[in-house]
Amino acid sequence: MIEKKTVPMREQPVEQRIKNFDEVALGYSEEEAIKESERCLQCNKKPCVSGCPVNIEIPEFIKFIRERKFQQGIDIIHQTDSLPAVTGRVCPQEDQCQAVCVLKKSGEPISIGRLERFLADWEQKNNKTIKKQNITKNLSSKIAIIGSGPAGLACATDLAKIGYEVTVFEGYHKLGGVLTYGIPEFRLPKDIVEKEINLLKNLGVKFMTNILIGRVLTIKDLFELGFKAIFIGAGAGLPKFMGIPGENLNGIYSANEYLTRTNLMKAYLFPQYDTPIKKAKNVLVIGGGNVAMDAARTAIRLGAKNVYLAYRRSEQEMPAREEEIVRAREEGVKFMLLTGITKYFGDENGFVKQAQCIKMDLKEPDFSGRRSPVPKQGSEFILDIDQAIVAIGTTPNPILQKTTPELKTKPTGEIITNEFCMTSIPGVFAGGDIVTGSATVITAMGAGRKAAYYIDRYLTNL
Ligand SMILES: Cc1cc2nc3c(=O)[nH]c(=O)nc-3n(C[C@H](O)[C@H](O)[C@H](O)COP(=O)(O)OP(=O)(O)OC[C@H]3O[C@@H](n4cnc5c(N)ncnc54)[C@H](O)[C@@H]3O)c2cc1C
Ligand code: SF4
Repeated sequence: MIEKKTVPMREQPVEQRIKNFDEVALGYSEEEAIKESERCLQCNKKPCVSGCPVNIEIPEFIKFIRERKFQQGIDIIHQTDSLPAVTGRVCPQEDQCQAVCVLKKSGEPISIGRLERFLADWEQKNNKTIKKQNITKNLSSKIAIIGSGPAGLACATDLAKIGYEVTVFEGYHKLGGVLTYGIPEFRLPKDIVEKEINLLKNLGVKFMTNILIGRVLTIKDLFELGFKAIFIGAGAGLPKFMGIPGENLNGIYSANEYLTRTNLMKAYLFPQYDTPIKKAKNVLVIGGGNVAMDAARTAIRLGAKNVYLAYRRSEQEMPAREEEIVRAREEGVKFMLLTGITKYFGDENGFVKQAQCIKMDLKEPDFSGRRSPVPKQGSEFILDIDQAIVAIGTTPNPILQKTTPELKTKPTGEIITNEFCMTSIPGVFAGGDIVTGSATVITAMGAGRKAAYYIDRYLTNL
């Protein structure tokens, strides 16, 4: 008889975790992972594999866990996923592989993400390294990757594995993109990301930090330096604002700045670290995605008394992962659903002191397929706040396009590519959020891998 329920994963208790930035989910022990793996039916048709954007051979790695062959298990994952400790933690498995697991018809699906995380953590604990593939080609070409987020890292890994000389240029002083500066420590510990990147360094990938392409060097300079192909994985890090009165008041942040200060600059450890962050009492977060949940949960940990989350639609339309919504609620975030913000009021020193909110009704679906919010006239109300964090999305930074005008982009800033991931400039490829707009870690990785495949074909004239 197959157990209907998944093996639960241990977590820090709520009352403890809201006072620290340590990881909330604690992972499976060996026994728990083996017990969960024993629920897998090893289906012939493997629907879970087609549900995974990078097609990890899920039943195979689960079989190896069952047999306690953890090295073989993680080797399977590495064939298609270079950041399993990351994806095992942050992938929306509930909408992907787990959504199509056959066990879902009669109970809970296999916890594929937790099992993936178990193997990846086992690998890190045991200081394993990733094997290079058999190099069959004589490859001396140098390839430049712009950006060290999931798209850039996945592209770099695949190209290095087949023997290319790969250099990653990163604008920040730390590697990892959103994994390092966006997603908070309590969801994705930074030492896990660092260790995962160190595994890639063992493949021979070179990393150059503090080099913003478009400012320090241009795309043309990279070709002159001898790079034969370039991959742009520069993400979509430019925050959007609402453009409403009072938005320039002090105390109103983009989620991007707020999370970068806390994660990358470790502001929560100020004054041990140099970057301060205002610890507010009444915080308003605007948005309903993972970024909004991360900002709200960070504000709780920084000691806010009230954290309100205003979202224009209902919970059903929220793009955030379900488990993050649940955790945000457990931690005390007050959800203000069907609520928009129309203006802010400041005090005599220019600091935000109130937000004017308005209730919304949902009408016909808009271009995104979600029902569109329409303000309810006369339903305005005032909320006392001393901080607001705007998490309504991001767009690509225009710096590359400005310094390379022949690089074609959409009016909204995303780089245009063809079916071979190539941009309007021959030899320049792109993928991840810079092409699709804000998406997910695994889709960015999938795009990086696809581009690596076409870069190899381009350089070998296939
Ligand atoms: C707070 C937050 C939470 C999220 N939570 C989740 C989640 O739970 N699950 C999930 O799947 N996805 C999540 N996402 C989305 C996911 O992180 C992104 O879709 C993914 O990181 C995109 O990868 P990327 O490589 O395209 O870009 P990025 O991760 O943005 O990396 C781009 C990198 O390029 C660098 N760069 C930019 N321009 C230049 C330049 N000109 N020169 C050199 N370097 C440059 C940047 O500094 C950055 O390091 C979240 C995003 C945020 C912001
Ligand atoms: S669909 Fe579910 S039960 Fe079937 S092989 Fe995949 S994980 Fe196992």
